[in-house]
Amino acid sequence: QVVCVTGASGFIASWLVKFLLQRGYTVKATVRDPNNSSKVDHLLNLEGAKERLHLVKANLLEEGSFDAAVEGSHAVFHTASPFFNNAKDPQTELLDPALKGTLNVLKSCVNSPTLKRVVLTSSIAAVSFNYRPKTPDVVVDETWYSDPEYCKENGLWYNLSKTLAEDAAWKFVKENNIDLVTVNPALVSGPLLQPELNTSASVVLNLVNGAQTFKNDIVGWVDVRDVAMAHILAYESASANGRYLLVDRVAHFSEVVKILRDLYPTLQIPEKCEDDKPYVPIFQVSKEKAKSLGLEFTPLEVSLKDTVESLKEKNFLK
Ligand code: NDP
Repeated sequence: QVVCVTGASGFIASWLVKFLLQRGYTVKATVRDPNNSSKVDHLLNLEGAKERLHLVKANLLEEGSFDAAVEGSHAVFHTASPFFNNAKDPQTELLDPALKGTLNVLKSCVNSPTLKRVVLTSSIAAVSFNYRPKTPDVVVDETWYSDPEYCKENGLWYNLSKTLAEDAAWKFVKENNIDLVTVNPALVSGPLLQPELNTSASVVLNLVNGAQTFKNDIVGWVDVRDVAMAHILAYESASANGRYLLVDRVAHFSEVVKILRDLYPTLQIPEKCEDDKPYVPIFQVSKEKAKSLGLEFTPLEVSLKDTVESLKEKNFLK
């Protein structure tokens, strides 16, 4: 079978390409610049790449850019989307590539004779950022949607980009009769295959690299290998449908630094919270639907250890 992975050089997509090649798929992998060795060498060196990996140049903002990559594919895994928090111009840097890019990819899928399903990498950013109260007894599940107004009011431009992109995708596939499944991961940790530091790995790096305080905030975590496998299961399970939240554990940063200190007593890991306010309360995220795919979650402790080891190996952490 032939599958297409957009944004193949990214943190999550690199693991997805690795697992797809291991499972015998032929992978058409889109990258913005196939001649940029720091973006493609780690893909070209994967097992099976020589025989079954094909790089295709494509940009989210160019109409029709994905036609060649989608053509002949049985599945399209659309992972490409900008993920960073310090955009100067959120409209052009985040919202346009996420929203227009998703529609651009889906337009290439219309009337494809080979395509069986599109798996979209959405996010928890498109799920839980709304005005609903969150307390320890609240369980966020696949029926939750982030509220664009809430995202705007709080300057959460990345979350807004993912919310608008997922919403537009559901509308488009309904009108154009495309089978869509989304995976909605929480913050993704775990080892890096690509040479560049991605945004979620930088969250872990900051915690072990001399930060004085930790945030008074809670975050859901999931391992990158589980996220990649969830994409594949969401395609291979014929009965998969709708959205799949991917979260191993929701934790306050005080818990995360405790795990890291236990793992690495000699590293400088913050002991103080950034403020004196009560800790932001925890809430739950349902794992039930993801588990129904046969997915098992790597424990946060293991994932954090593997992240730090990888950051050391790649010399991000001296
Ligand atoms: P990366 O930054 O590692 O990967 C993002 C990818 O998107 C890169 O391959 C990048 O290409 C590509 N991209 C960005 N802009 C464009 C563009 N204009 N045209 C073509 N490609 C573009 O991030 P992740 O692997 O972490 O993220 C992958 C997906 O997972 C995203 O959709 C993200 O929203 C989602 N996600 C990530 C989470 C996380 O914690 N990591 C959590 C939940 C969802 P290039 O290499 O050329 O820059």
